[in-house]
Amino acid sequence: MSRFFTSKHGALTPYTPGEQPRDKKYIKLNTNESPFPPSPRAMEAASEAAKSLQLYPDPTYKALHEAIAAYHGLTPEEVLVTNGSDEILNFAFMAFCDKDHPAAFPNITYGFYSVFATLNHVPYTEIPLNSDFTVNTADYKGTADTLFLANPNAPTGLALTVSEIEEILTSNPDRVVVIDEAYIDFGGETVAPLVRKYDNLLVTRTFSKSRSMAGARLGYGIGCKALIDDLNTIKYSTNPYNVNSMSAAAGLGVMADDAYTANNCAAIIEAREYAKSALKALGFEMTDSMGNFLFVRHPKIKGQRIYKELRERGILVRHFNSILISEYNRITVGTMAEMQALTDALADIVKE
Ligand code: PMP
Repeated sequence: MSRFFTSKHGALTPYTPGEQPRDKKYIKLNTNESPFPPSPRAMEAASEAAKSLQLYPDPTYKALHEAIAAYHGLTPEEVLVTNGSDEILNFAFMAFCDKDHPAAFPNITYGFYSVFATLNHVPYTEIPLNSDFTVNTADYKGTADTLFLANPNAPTGLALTVSEIEEILTSNPDRVVVIDEAYIDFGGETVAPLVRKYDNLLVTRTFSKSRSMAGARLGYGIGCKALIDDLNTIKYSTNPYNVNSMSAAAGLGVMADDAYTANNCAAIIEAREYAKSALKALGFEMTDSMGNFLFVRHPKIKGQRIYKELRERGILVRHFNSILISEYNRITVGTMAEMQALTDALADIVKE
């Protein structure tokens, strides 16, 4: 730290992203990326947009907002695109939380929520999960907090139903409820159709997972116009051109190629279900993940050891140091061939 770093960020422990190693070729199952390349239409659109990089992007992202709005049956005023969904989550902390409107989210969930809260000086409560990692919805009813819920949750992959989320929404009419649907295309029920019904609902989505565009950094939120207006106030006060032209164009390209996304999702779901049964046969225990990842432990082998042994065999998974989940590894679901390689490696590790 330099002697110039402001003390207002003294308490900040930054988020630790998953490794992106370049030392050798791994089977990379550690950051929930898609194993499939972006849609050819996304790539063509991005390279076309590269020809105009001397210009700023359209800060209203009109075409992309229209495409996303059409996808959800909404108007463009009910959509805001951002630099990854991380950005809209940060915007939500900036727009809807302060010391009188603290945040709450589960312990365990996406690790960035607590970082955004600290960055924005927002007090927060981490609400324990049940022992089976499910969310106890009663804990989220009638709270005084702005709620952040990943659905399916990360890294457990467990999902709440629409009616459970609706109960949370109706019991907190004066608080914003953010439902982070980063993984919704792989399972679980979306609450996107409820944004017209509840003016306190913000749904966030990403192009990083099901749409194979993690490197493009594209996400969005949908909510009632008033919520989106507030988020636009934050956007235009931080970075009006928050999405670069190539990513915006790629986003439009992939939105026009829904069949490509749907096929990839189907392949990932099939590989996930295959991996669940193959790993269970090896004695692993796991949640019934609805995401593009598995959350697994072995009753006799330490989580850290499994992580290391897989790494030595060229397979990278995510191990979290948090005491609550240190026996677990989160394993991204890749192609069927990658899941077979994973199963072979784990069979070898279990045998030892
Ligand atoms: N929400 C959850 C639950 C996530 O796991 C992630 C990605 N790791 C994000 C949001 C952010 O994704 P992105 O910024 O790539 O859209």
